[in-house]
Amino acid sequence: MQWYQKTEEAIFAELETSATGLTQKQVSERLAKYGENVVGDEDAVNYFEILLHQLKSPLVVILLIAAAVTTLLGEFIDAGVIGAVVILNGLIGFIQESKAEQSVRSLQKMVTPKALAIRDGKEMEIDSRTLQPGDIVILFSGAMVPADIRLIEANELRIDESMLTGESLPANKLPELIPEDDLSPGDQVNMSFMGTIVVNGRGKGIVTETGLKTMLGGIAQDIRSIGKVAAPIQEKIERLAKAIGVLVLSAASLLFILGLALGESIKNMFLTAVAVSVATVPEGLPIVVTIAMAVGVKRMASYNAVIRKLAAVETLGSTTVICSDKTGTLTVNRMTVTKIFDGKDEMTITGTGYIPEGEFTTANGDKTPLTESLQHVLRIGLLCNESRLVQKDDTWEVEGDPTEGALIVSALKSGMTMDEKKAWPEIAILPFESDRGYMATLHEHAGKKFLFVKGGHDRLLTACDPTLFPYGTTIDLIDEEAHEMAAKGLRVLAFAVKEMPAETTTVSDADAMNGLQFMGLQGMMDPPRPEAIEAVANCQSAGIRVVMITGDHADTAYAIARMLGINTAHDGAVTGTRLAKMTDQELSEIVQEESVFARIAPDDKFRIINSLKEHGEIVAVTGDGVNDAPALRTAHIGVSMGKGGTDVARESSDMVLIDDNFSSIFHAVREGRIVFDNLRKAIFFLLPTGLAAVWSILLTMIFGLPIPFVAAQLLWINLVTNGLQDVAFAFEPGEKDVGDRPPRPTDEGIINSLLLQRTVIVSLCIALGVYGVFSAALEQGVNLEKARTLAMTTMVFFQFFQAINSRAERASIFTINPFSNHFLLVSMILAVGAQISVVYVSSLQWVFRTQPLSGEEWGICISIASIIILVVEIEKALRRTIRQKAL
Ligand code: ADP
Ligand code: MG
Repeated sequence: MQWYQKTEEAIFAELETSATGLTQKQVSERLAKYGENVVGDEDAVNYFEILLHQLKSPLVVILLIAAAVTTLLGEFIDAGVIGAVVILNGLIGFIQESKAEQSVRSLQKMVTPKALAIRDGKEMEIDSRTLQPGDIVILFSGAMVPADIRLIEANELRIDESMLTGESLPANKLPELIPEDDLSPGDQVNMSFMGTIVVNGRGKGIVTETGLKTMLGGIAQDIRSIGKVAAPIQEKIERLAKAIGVLVLSAASLLFILGLALGESIKNMFLTAVAVSVATVPEGLPIVVTIAMAVGVKRMASYNAVIRKLAAVETLGSTTVICSDKTGTLTVNRMTVTKIFDGKDEMTITGTGYIPEGEFTTANGDKTPLTESLQHVLRIGLLCNESRLVQKDDTWEVEGDPTEGALIVSALKSGMTMDEKKAWPEIAILPFESDRGYMATLHEHAGKKFLFVKGGHDRLLTACDPTLFPYGTTIDLIDEEAHEMAAKGLRVLAFAVKEMPAETTTVSDADAMNGLQFMGLQGMMDPPRPEAIEAVANCQSAGIRVVMITGDHADTAYAIARMLGINTAHDGAVTGTRLAKMTDQELSEIVQEESVFARIAPDDKFRIINSLKEHGEIVAVTGDGVNDAPALRTAHIGVSMGKGGTDVARESSDMVLIDDNFSSIFHAVREGRIVFDNLRKAIFFLLPTGLAAVWSILLTMIFGLPIPFVAAQLLWINLVTNGLQDVAFAFEPGEKDVGDRPPRPTDEGIINSLLLQRTVIVSLCIALGVYGVFSAALEQGVNLEKARTLAMTTMVFFQFFQAINSRAERASIFTINPFSNHFLLVSMILAVGAQISVVYVSSLQWVFRTQPLSGEEWGICISIASIIILVVEIEKALRRTIRQKAL
């Protein structure tokens, strides 16, 4: 017999469990027996693949051929050096890439999958990896089903099973037993399967299978695995590196031919051409990208932003608009009811947070007993409610929806207790969904049935019967009261009842949306997060527009937007109703200047985002609900919430905010900019220094001098200077102005005119310097080996100083802290140390044909090389003045 054919009782007996769930002890015993509830090992790093990646580069192929040819030519030393270059480069790449991969994966584990379960008779949020057969699980809209579950309760439960069945319409789920044999998963209506998504309603069930035993675990394991995704920038950079490689190869061939024409030997020229190629090709670049991204991802995580899709790192840096939810992201998501109204009396409620202690006072501060009608309002709030208030140590926390938590607290403050639940037992429920905008519960009391309804006042009032208004109040008076509350930034909820026929057992939208008797209003405050106020200001000074898109009322939204300092063109918010009447053309006109959108349904959100995208904006969007998935996917960067959001939203997002905090988005954008800057810095360093090798050889050949470096020396320069320093740029902390400049133009690639111009200037300058030192030495009659040692040392120091230059793209390097990048500092010290040893250690002297230098000679090399700092500083200063004049 299959699970779906068994009765609830049979399953309880078989799995030794009950409606109150497993005990913690049973859970730990079963955990030892059945293991964790996980499908497949998604997290293993494939070291072999990373190793292969190192060998795949075309450069390695060239080098290996060169090594073979040099061996054939009998040049064993050079062959050895080439071999060492291959191995060392590969090793550095392998270590760095593995580290990057490991850290990215471990960060993704920061987002723990959660489930709502009943254990020890209590409803609690648990890590879904601990689920065991026999656990009782509660399903709610937006959740991903955490295991295979036999349903025992279902209320409007609809589940999207397309990933298992291919059926795109959500399946209706019912708890009834099905006797038939051999049903396919799609027909097992009383089961829900791991990995499928609850799109509507509520349900409860018994976990029957976990981990690999689930339907999902049984079929292809790769359905869920994220796999290694290459970000577009990685591909772009690999292409760039290849293009440069091709250019360099042709330049090297020309050099080879030129050399032959000038009478050099084939063997010499071949070795030189190979060495020049190696020195010029920026072979480290793809590794730098990987590491820069990994460093960025890690830094973002330290600001509570966890990247799910690597590509987002690149896009984040060019974000121009952030569309954010209000509740919980821009606000603290701790609601406190401060005003209550019953149609006649308005009272203020004191107290802070969720502590159920406070007083009800009238406008002039008097404490008076609550009228019966105010108590009715509070009772509906308390009972038409799916959340719980719990005391943890000294603090009070809400499990569930903060809006509902606030309503429990306000009721408790009046002296009401949870015993109300017994006096008014709940029979049926129509849960709150953002699309619905209200919620209803059916209760029994004194032999009668009552429907309790709560929701946004604008929505609910349309369903209230004006002839039943209390105290002869009118819709205008109620509206005025609600507006007054909302203008203070309060979220306003209305409360209503309706007596139902005694035989009623279910609630429908039709019942809840007409003939209601209005009972009153409660207004609750959810203050802006202080960090969000700061982050909104930071965004706006970084040229990033902040747009609030909320389901809340227009007045409330606008009041909170003002508190946050969000810039918008007109007073007030654009409402969903207004949006619905707009054509795409009209929307497109306002979307560029209006920044507060209220009573927005998920579909409208999707439209707003698309409209922004059509304007060429790079849009980051937050979302937490079930229906936010399309908006999250269409946005350039979909941002979901780690604490408050739904699984669906998380699955569709590129980035998860662990703390649900808006300011984390700003930090992530900032770090995204830094990643891009750092890549550029590495290129500023690699390209000109590589090119300089070509120029310097050309120069000496043209002026009839011998080639200034032997092949081994060129390889050495490449190894010493580029080996670690390029990687070090990935760790640059970011320049001071990253948060003050406008976003990078979207059509601007990595290579811009600044980079090209500086490459030409710097490479020519280095080549001239090296040529100068080399030719002057020869002129003074030193031997060729000594002259070459001088040229090589000069070259190494030129690169040393260019590394310093590259730390700032536009700013003077004297404005940045020389010690802020430890990795770079260490690699530069190592480079100098290596250079000293190659000049003095006799075995290295033999390999690299070097000669010892005097102190004075060191001084000459270093001072000539330091000129490059002066040149680039002058160039930067000129650019800054030109820029300022242009402004
Ligand atoms: P957001 O989170 O963007 O502010 P929601 O979709 O959560 O918007 O809420 C929209 C509106 O629905 C709120 O302004 C409020 O009027 C109403 N509302 C929110 N939560 C509940 C609830 N639990 N029960 C009834 N109504 C609610
Ligand atoms: Mg909400």
